[in-house]
Amino acid sequence: MIPLIDLKRQYTMLSNEIMHAITEVLQSGQYILGPKVLEFEKRCSEYLNVKHCIGVGNGTDALVIALESLGIGNGNEVITTPFTFFATAEAIVRVGATPVFVDIDPLSYNINPEEIERKITPKTKAIMPVHIFGQVCDMNRILEIAKKYNLYVIEDACQAFGAEYNGKKAGTIGDVGCFSFFPTKNLGGFGDGGLIVTNNDEVAEKARMLRQHGSKKKYYNELIGFNSRLDEIQAAILLVKLKYIDEWNKKRSEIAEKYNHGLKLEGLVTPAKTNACERGHIYHLYILQYENRDKILEYLTQKGIATGIYYPVPLHLTKALRFLGHKEGDFKVAEEVSKRAFAIPMFPELKDEEVEFIISSINEFGGNFL
Ligand SMILES: *Cc1c(COP(=O)(O)O)cnc(C)c1O
Repeated sequence: MIPLIDLKRQYTMLSNEIMHAITEVLQSGQYILGPKVLEFEKRCSEYLNVKHCIGVGNGTDALVIALESLGIGNGNEVITTPFTFFATAEAIVRVGATPVFVDIDPLSYNINPEEIERKITPKTKAIMPVHIFGQVCDMNRILEIAKKYNLYVIEDACQAFGAEYNGKKAGTIGDVGCFSFFPTKNLGGFGDGGLIVTNNDEVAEKARMLRQHGSKKKYYNELIGFNSRLDEIQAAILLVKLKYIDEWNKKRSEIAEKYNHGLKLEGLVTPAKTNACERGHIYHLYILQYENRDKILEYLTQKGIATGIYYPVPLHLTKALRFLGHKEGDFKVAEEVSKRAFAIPMFPELKDEEVEFIISSINEFGGNFL
């Protein structure tokens, strides 16, 4: 079976370096917010070219803490996409605000900026674009709207570490950016982890406090915060992996190019690169669309090729968000894509012969199978 992502291959390649990094932490006796977290935050600041990086427990907490650091909460509205991982909207609800959805662009699958303005009300405080599958949103247009209406922009960059837009790294374009180091993300730890990035000193200070019980100094609590810190061991592992991120993202793009050129099945929709920047799309996931999705997924399983559905339920139709009062038909593009989209294997260690086999298998679909 060719898996969607094989984390063991990456570990095998780096096992010596990683074991060394972990052992160093174990021997140091400093397990929470120690030198590795500090160093990782510093390296990320350099890599992303952003003033502040704050390591937190996971990507969801990064979003929650970012929202709270900007003072967003009860009575506020945050504009976002219904076609994303649940955590995006969950974080907005968690701080007491209301997610206001805007349909997606059918090519990029990202929030459609042309539909944002209609959704702005006096309660709107922020726009939360998600760089879905690793492709950076149309940020110029989003920033323009945010400026006009005096809104914050919080980037959910959880799928786009290292992706670029006009010379800037994803996550550093708006007011605050959030990353996840969940193991399957393009920069992933061996457990949970997250990062908040910003050039705003005040927001950074508040986020730093919120991640540890609202205090700058232990036992002198100034705010009601969280216990959400990037783990020292995860930071040590991520420091090793950060060195390879450009190489890995490049490999992802090369595999995507092979898929794009090789896949010829009629009716199959390959990903559109709507962001012209060289690293505009880092292919966290490689997403195809096909009308008869069930059949092709069944066929690929029989061929020994893993697939995944991202995302089967657009957020406005999830049970948890039913209270928002949405119904089928409210966001037609997101609903349509949810019925047709699926992922095929994508990770930097995918072998050439595996890529070839996946391409030829898909191209042969329809012969005997239908
Ligand atoms: C993974 C992800 C998150 C949540 O990150 P966790 O680390 O799993 O909490 C949020 N938003 C998006 C778009 C994601 O892909």
